[in-house]
Amino acid sequence: MPELPEVETTRRGIEPALAGNRIADVSVRRARMSRRQPNPADIPGRLIGRKVLDVGRIGKFLIVDVEDGFSLVMHLGMSGRLLVANLEDPEDAHTNVVIRTEAHEEVRMIDPRTFGFIVVYTPDELADSSIAALGPDAFDALPRSPQLLARMEGRSVAIKTLLLDQRFLAGLGNIYADEILYRAKVDPLRQAGSLVASEISAIRKQIRPVLAAGLAHGGTSLGDLTYLLPDGRAGEYLQRLRVYGRVGEECRRCRSKIIKRVVGGRSTFSCPTCQR
Ligand SMILES: [Zn+2]
Repeated sequence: MPELPEVETTRRGIEPALAGNRIADVSVRRARMSRRQPNPADIPGRLIGRKVLDVGRIGKFLIVDVEDGFSLVMHLGMSGRLLVANLEDPEDAHTNVVIRTEAHEEVRMIDPRTFGFIVVYTPDELADSSIAALGPDAFDALPRSPQLLARMEGRSVAIKTLLLDQRFLAGLGNIYADEILYRAKVDPLRQAGSLVASEISAIRKQIRPVLAAGLAHGGTSLGDLTYLLPDGRAGEYLQRLRVYGRVGEECRRCRSKIIKRVVGGRSTFSCPTCQR
């Protein structure tokens, strides 16, 4: 699933095509993609003819503000990606949403599994949406360690599971949570409430550098290549992963074999020696 580095890479890729341009047409080819819209028929009327003001992001959500207060929210789900293309470029399979600008460019959402979605909110609807329930963005608004400590106190949930909770921190997913906990030397199964200040500080210290490294490499494209940059290239952070997907391979610090366990229903990779 695209996480913060992949979504931010996507944001940077679509921004030149959208920002400052007027939306000429919107086409939702799979009705499921607009399932979050209270009345899906509202989507074209809220976008067409309006100029894009900002292309933003909170956590894993892209938020495109257009004139008259409407916000286009896009989520890539499990396997979605956005592609910037010219009008005449042939469409990839599973092109489920197409947003065309007056500059004759298109932002296309390609999503084979259709867990992604688009929705266009009024300001009131946005304030009532799941966006408003998101925790602080893990990259742009990372809380200080004492605040994290206070929010973990008494929590019996595994630290890995808490890092994936978008109401706690917005943007982390399975890959980067495992990489952060490995670098912080904390066992993903530890109860969040059992962590001491130095451990929380160690985790916090790794969050932005790990996300920044992912971002610097255009994110992580796994073998299935469902995630690609908006220009069609693959993200190259995969080769740099230290634990994710490396079960049975050697830890680069201590040479123990990386293990895989299921935590909160998610495959979780860690070093049994380094992470305590
Ligand atoms: Zn190790």
